Amino acid sequence: MPRMSISSTYQRMIGVNNAVHWDKLVWNRLSIPKHIMICWLAMHQRMRTSDLLVKLGVLEENKCMLCADGMESHNHLFFQCSYSSKCLELVKVWLHLSSAQDLLQRQWYFLQKSRRTGLQKKFIAAIFSGLIYSIWWARNEAAWNKFFGGLRLCSNE
Ligand SMILES: [Zn+2]
Repeated sequence: MPRMSISSTYQRMIGVNNAVHWDKLVWNRLSIPKHIMICWLAMHQRMRTSDLLVKLGVLEENKCMLCADGMESHNHLFFQCSYSSKCLELVKVWLHLSSAQDLLQRQWYFLQKSRRTGLQKKFIAAIFSGLIYSIWWARNEAAWNKFFGGLRLCSNE
């Protein structure tokens, strides 16, 4: 008879989970809690993007509402969309970041592996979380209120 323990039973219940490298950056105390929650969902690709809503039969098309140029998915929204990539570019210029990554997970990996101090990484992570929250907010405004302010939301132009 196999030996049973609480930890082995718990591990069977939750399944195999790969360790992530970005959790401490996302859950840092410099970030605003609502930004953390949206960022956490985005990192786990759990946002209700249009591609998922089409699969569920809620929507008929998954056209991106921010650029009207691509199909909305996690990878498109963060940061392959022309709107979100421009927002990311503005933030990178402001923070003097030089990564050329165009996916959310790669941004966090680049930040985690950078030679910055822990406080600098947490500060940049808080900015990234705010950016992700703002993009999701802009997407929801475009989807539900049919309002899209364009890049005026991200820049001083
Ligand atoms: Zn788009």
